[in-house]
Amino acid sequence: MSLTELEMLEREYAVPTYVRNPVQFVRGSGARLWDADGNEYLDFLAGISVLNVGHCHPRVVEAVRDQVGRLSHVSNLYYTEPALKLSAALSRNSLGGKVFLCNSGAEANEAAIKLARRARPGGNVVVLEGAFHGRTYGALSATPQETKQAPFAPLVPGFVVVPKDPGVLSDAVDAGTAAVLLEPIQGETGIHPLSDDLLVAAREACDRTGAALIFDEIQTGMGRTGTLWAYEQTDVLPDAITSAKALGGGLPIGALVTGPGLADTLQPGDHGSTFAGGPVVAASALVALEICSDPELLARVRVAGDRLASGLATLPYVTAVRGRGLMLAIDVNPDVAAPELAKRALLEQRLVVNATGPATIRLEPPLIVSDDELDEAVVRLAELAP
Ligand code: PLP
Repeated sequence: MSLTELEMLEREYAVPTYVRNPVQFVRGSGARLWDADGNEYLDFLAGISVLNVGHCHPRVVEAVRDQVGRLSHVSNLYYTEPALKLSAALSRNSLGGKVFLCNSGAEANEAAIKLARRARPGGNVVVLEGAFHGRTYGALSATPQETKQAPFAPLVPGFVVVPKDPGVLSDAVDAGTAAVLLEPIQGETGIHPLSDDLLVAAREACDRTGAALIFDEIQTGMGRTGTLWAYEQTDVLPDAITSAKALGGGLPIGALVTGPGLADTLQPGDHGSTFAGGPVVAASALVALEICSDPELLARVRVAGDRLASGLATLPYVTAVRGRGLMLAIDVNPDVAAPELAKRALLEQRLVVNATGPATIRLEPPLIVSDDELDEAVVRLAELAP
């Protein structure tokens, strides 16, 4: 179908929640995408940090093909091998507790919020200004952004919003706090790493009060920052983490991973989901997790991130480069509108990036991106200088 035909179908039949760019992608491989006219693009967004292993990684494709041809679904009333192997791999590669699988990032955070409330009934959840935890009601209630929340009030009660200030955060946590929920690097709102002081204050406040410290690693996890999880680069060990996005290798999945202390808090009947941990997505995720936890790949992400950050810093319109590993953002000077720049990058330079706000562009290429591709992206961005 042509782009014009798709636009007509969307206008008539799709609930208009998305503002799409006028490109129809039909194929992907590694860090490259192709549109319906055969044009090749460099993908420096990776489906919003989903294709960490790259598009159509041969091992992911093989695992999915193999599994979908044998068994695609039976429900969680029965045992299946991929889901339990994935749970074991996730636990062994992180906090060593237990895993609840689900279908998306928002769902993983819903599970985390339920876990925290189950551990401390009626407790509040402390969240930070600038956070993004998803669009379902619990996750949205943990996302203190006026434009996203206001049209859907009343929200879920019991969320306390604090600024990114260690003292204020510490004061807000007390015996009535079930959890502190935070992203170690705030992603959707422009790639803002939280300070070590803030993370340490959160850990100490949770230790003092018995609240759970939960890291939302949905965007930062799966090797994106140069370690499998971003918490590994901090002085703090959370009590639970949430994962999604890149975990599925391109298919939809989410996970709540607990440490040993919270492993048996949720009990039979407390939570569940029909599709959660289905054999196909779990088989795909097992491969993705194996690839993303490879120490060689993780070391490469750190080197590649430094190379990209240095290149970005040379662009004449860039005022700041932020982030860690291949989770980067640039701030652009006021006479360049970031959304317009991202659109021109796509349409004129065939480089996929996205604007997280009026002055910020986010870059999150697949972790397997080559040096040539990193340098080429910077060249393409340089072409957009006013
Ligand atoms: N948490 C973080 C940190 C995210 O970046 C996102 C998505 O962008 C979510 C939660 C929500 O994930 P999903 O869109 O899969 O529900």
